[in-house]
Amino acid sequence: MGRIVLEKVQKKFGDVEVIPPLDLTIEDGEFTVFVGPSGCGKSTLLRLIAGLEDTTDGIIKIDDADATHVPPAKRGLAMVFQSYALYPHMSVRKNIAFPMKMAKVPEDEQVRRIDAAAAALNLTDYLDRKPGQLSGGQRQRVAIGRSIVREPSAFLFDEPLSNLDAALRVGMRLEISELHERLKTTMVYVTHDQVEAMTMADKIVVLRAGFIEQVGSPLELYHKPRNEFVAGFIGSPK
Ligand code: ADP
Ligand code: MG
Repeated sequence: MGRIVLEKVQKKFGDVEVIPPLDLTIEDGEFTVFVGPSGCGKSTLLRLIAGLEDTTDGIIKIDDADATHVPPAKRGLAMVFQSYALYPHMSVRKNIAFPMKMAKVPEDEQVRRIDAAAAALNLTDYLDRKPGQLSGGQRQRVAIGRSIVREPSAFLFDEPLSNLDAALRVGMRLEISELHERLKTTMVYVTHDQVEAMTMADKIVVLRAGFIEQVGSPLELYHKPRNEFVAGFIGSPK
């Protein structure tokens, strides 16, 4: 579960083609990073996968089923944003439980999933605190916990660490990588930060003005950048 295939997916806003028709396969369990300069279409591509934007043309398949016109909530994907809007008056436990309450998940199953998510995110000791009593990194983990309990087939992250200071970013980077190791769930991660891309990805998709310049592992991109743009962006020796 968690294979995402884009076939000739195109996105226009009015007359402006932000994503020219592109093909991309994200394999089950893979940590894929979309990297590229600001405005190159990373968020748009992620939002197309999430269903938060309609495709202008093309097909999106999730686990071999056509998901092109499936509403976001029915795609089985979890989107983690850079701003993590937690409910300030609710405890961590209640924040994490909230989506399950909405989905009418049975009470004992809720408890099981909260305990599992808290263990995976090192939040077990913080379940009874309010968001205001947590650090930025802990709040980000609660936001991720809220998506874990929905047991998605893939996580979609849009620059989740951009609100954090430099030291915290390093820690959270490691934590998200660790989470991927534990869950082995597909993760698609958008960033404009080369270091994040090179250290976290199984596979990097380098975007430039909506085009895919190159797809490959960090080592492939480092040793065999296809052009100057990729080399410059990845920091390869020329
Ligand atoms: P990135 O996430 O890589 O910074 P975006 O996907 O946000 O880039 O934006 C790609 C391009 O699409 C930009 O030129 C942006 O201005 C444009 N764009 C994004 N969303 C909209 C929208 N809702 N309407 C019109 N143009 C948009
Ligand atoms: Mg963006």
